Amino acid sequence: MSEPSTPLMRQYTAIKQKYPQALLFFRLGDFYEMFFEDAVLAARELQITLTSRNKEKGVAVPMCGVPYHAADNYIARLIQKGYKVAICEQMEDPRVAKKLVRREVTRVVTPGTASDSHLLSPRENNFLVSACRSDDHIGLACVDLSTGEFRATEISGDDREAKLAEELSHLGAREMLFPAARPVPGQSDARLVPMGGEAVPLPLGRPGVRSPGPSPEGSGQQGGLWGAGRGTDGLTRTPLEDWVFGYDYALRLLTEHFRVHSLDGFGLAGREQAIAASGALLHYLKETQQGSLGHLDRIVFYERQQWMVLDSVTVRNLELTEPVFQGDADATLLAVLDRTATGMGARLLKSRLLRPSLDRAAIEASLDAVEEMLRESMSRSRIAKECAAVYDMERLLSRVTLGTATPRDLASLRNSMERLPAIRVLMGGLQSALWRDVWERMDELADVHALLAKALVDAPPINLSEGGAIREGYHAELDELRGLSKSGKQTIAAMEARERTATGIQSLKIKYNDVFGYYIEVSRANYSLVPERYERKQTLVNAERFTTPELKEYERKVLDAEERMLGIEQTLFVELRAAVAGESSRIRGTAAAVAEADVLITFASLAAEANYCRPRFTDNGELEIRAGRHPVLERLGELQQGERFVPNDLYMDSASERILIITGPNMGGKSTYLRQAALIAIMAQMGSFVPATSARLPLFDRIFTRIGASDSLARGRSTFMVEMTETAVILNTVGKNSLVILDEIGRGTATFDGLAIAWAVVEHLESRSGAKALFATHYHELTELAEHLSGVKNRHMAVKESGSDIVFLRRVEPGAADRSYGIEVARLAGLPRDVIERAREVLTYHEQSEHRVSNSLSPAPEGPQAMQFTLFTPSNQALAERIAQINVDNLKPLDALNILAELKKQVEEG
Ligand code: ADP
Ligand code: MG
Repeated sequence: MSEPSTPLMRQYTAIKQKYPQALLFFRLGDFYEMFFEDAVLAARELQITLTSRNKEKGVAVPMCGVPYHAADNYIARLIQKGYKVAICEQMEDPRVAKKLVRREVTRVVTPGTASDSHLLSPRENNFLVSACRSDDHIGLACVDLSTGEFRATEISGDDREAKLAEELSHLGAREMLFPAARPVPGQSDARLVPMGGEAVPLPLGRPGVRSPGPSPEGSGQQGGLWGAGRGTDGLTRTPLEDWVFGYDYALRLLTEHFRVHSLDGFGLAGREQAIAASGALLHYLKETQQGSLGHLDRIVFYERQQWMVLDSVTVRNLELTEPVFQGDADATLLAVLDRTATGMGARLLKSRLLRPSLDRAAIEASLDAVEEMLRESMSRSRIAKECAAVYDMERLLSRVTLGTATPRDLASLRNSMERLPAIRVLMGGLQSALWRDVWERMDELADVHALLAKALVDAPPINLSEGGAIREGYHAELDELRGLSKSGKQTIAAMEARERTATGIQSLKIKYNDVFGYYIEVSRANYSLVPERYERKQTLVNAERFTTPELKEYERKVLDAEERMLGIEQTLFVELRAAVAGESSRIRGTAAAVAEADVLITFASLAAEANYCRPRFTDNGELEIRAGRHPVLERLGELQQGERFVPNDLYMDSASERILIITGPNMGGKSTYLRQAALIAIMAQMGSFVPATSARLPLFDRIFTRIGASDSLARGRSTFMVEMTETAVILNTVGKNSLVILDEIGRGTATFDGLAIAWAVVEHLESRSGAKALFATHYHELTELAEHLSGVKNRHMAVKESGSDIVFLRRVEPGAADRSYGIEVARLAGLPRDVIERAREVLTYHEQSEHRVSNSLSPAPEGPQAMQFTLFTPSNQALAERIAQINVDNLKPLDALNILAELKKQVEEG
């Protein structure tokens, strides 16, 4: 591109060069303008008109703009689409600037660093993550800039890439930083490049140059997790120069930021990849955010093993946070549980839901606190009410430290603090350890509150520039100036009266507007009466506007005073904000305590309203749920007409009741029963009471699910492939403390191989994993497994037959269902009578031939059926076990012969 010819465009180009990755919002008067490629892209994405600037000799520069007062909305839309926006402001008043107005980028907003409330959903975290890898580890760090949460971990093992993907989906991360695979041309010594210049120029190129990378939309595919752009998962991937992920650099950056000598205190000792990822994250924040990052006052190293692992398939299958069918927004566990009063509480609850604890002591502490609060129904509702008046202190605080908080934000913070003493008093009498702890951690912040109360008016404006944020009595000069401008009204009234008498024009008025300042308005009819000394200012259709030297003088005084007042307010406000920022770690601790109280109260209220019980934990793997209910179904009231939810018991242990095969008619309640067990386990480990009359459970380290033939065709894989992939994950990772929920596996293929796979899966689970499993199936044949495998038992959903009708009892009973009642269910569904009758005929015919098939599934001595026998029975197991016992090294020849004879006999007897 040729050198731009105007100073303005030269300024633009210089600034844009530092922010190649972002759309540059370039402030020009009342607009943010975009030029070149940025303009083309923004016009397309925002549906705004693309124009061009022709002042550049010979070249038309594409441009488009948005009014500054509406910019937030446009920025939000771009961020949502995964773009980054650099906001470039005028740093001096254009009216006083001698030459070109000085401009600077004051902020870069990216999907992962958004902290303004209109860019965020109040009840969810907004995570920016950073990942890097060595030969055997992946380091992962995540931060929610809007709340100050900063964590890091390391992932290892052969499936670490998959685990990373899982963790990202868990976090709901918006943006991921990672080391660019290739160096950036011309920037080999990237350290010398100024701030903002280090990054690989993706996805937006330099102005005038065709962008080297694709647009953020839909480009994340080819590179997988480690490729730039934005994938279908809504995660924006931001490559950074390699060195940003250097361990030494990270160490220095982090120790300086946290003002510590080493990171060991955060649990990061020896965690080089976690440190490197955290360092890059901090680097990026420093680069994109202008304000202080003081609210990031600590980093926490976490082990994924601290929590029950719920992979993304399970989160989806169990409808923990999102319904499988869009539209049933209430049909999730989160929707049922989330009665929190604050955004902070809501976020904490959601993170507990996705990461139930494995820490028995912590869970019991939570349960103790819930139990105590359950008894205290009075303080419960009172505290909840007080909490509801607390704003999102975490997010307000982060805007305070970032320097973007408005006067109204500070007032919200102040009003929130006002509630703290009452909350603490209400909590004062509580005895359990966790409540004592929350009480202690909740700082009343009386000093900060007093300061804010004194400084800010009750309802300050959003914009400081509107004036009037600072309370009277806080600053003497400000008060004096305000007095002057108040008395100004009288001065003007007096002047107006004087001029009316002097000119004899009774309708004469002195008015003010932003463009023309003060003026005397005379209607056209009275024009002849206007004296010489009036200077004309403006002509309207029916009136003329004038000024006088006296009025001009007055105007100057007023404007000066106003400017001065605004200046003072500005200074005072910035001081105030800094003072509050100085207390950020106290405020943050308090906010966290409020969040915790909010969640505990929510659990207690739920327990009271929905009649939940306190779960107990077992050490021997035993699980016993009495009268368990499905927490979502029972609350939704969407049961079949006239039906009430039928509670069911569940018993499992580590020996003979490890795997339950559940049969019964379609619509009998199998799937519900399975999910209910998983949901109860999750709620228990969240530290909540559960929907049952009593519940004893082991701590599960992982819950796996494979539910239904969910249709992933949209994602380009066949249903069966998806099903098998998910099943493979389960079988490869399941352990003895896991709970496996299998609902109708093997359905996506022909009956026989589907059955074969299901059969083998159960055998594998029984013999290899030690896990507990609940398996709902329409393959009746599977119930035979209970005869062959000691850990497998049958259950069925009871139905009552009356004539040709069936009634679902929704009751789980021992033993296998005697048949599948498909035709009865079809009849209930309204299939025409002739079809039903014909189906009965066909079924009778087939049942006779099936008799032959089912014989083939039972042990048979020889012939072609023997092959099927080996397919479906672990017949060789006893034999194999016996052979395994033989110690060949000190076996005498005679003994060997005897054993051989014994084995032969065993085989012959089957
Ligand atoms: P299946 O998996 O056996 O086909 P589902 O578990 O999907 O059956 O249940 C079908 C419907 O039956 C549910 O949508 C619900 O309306 C009802 N249902 C299931 N379990 C119960 C129960 N325990 N009490 C009352 N209604 C139930
Ligand atoms: Mg089902």
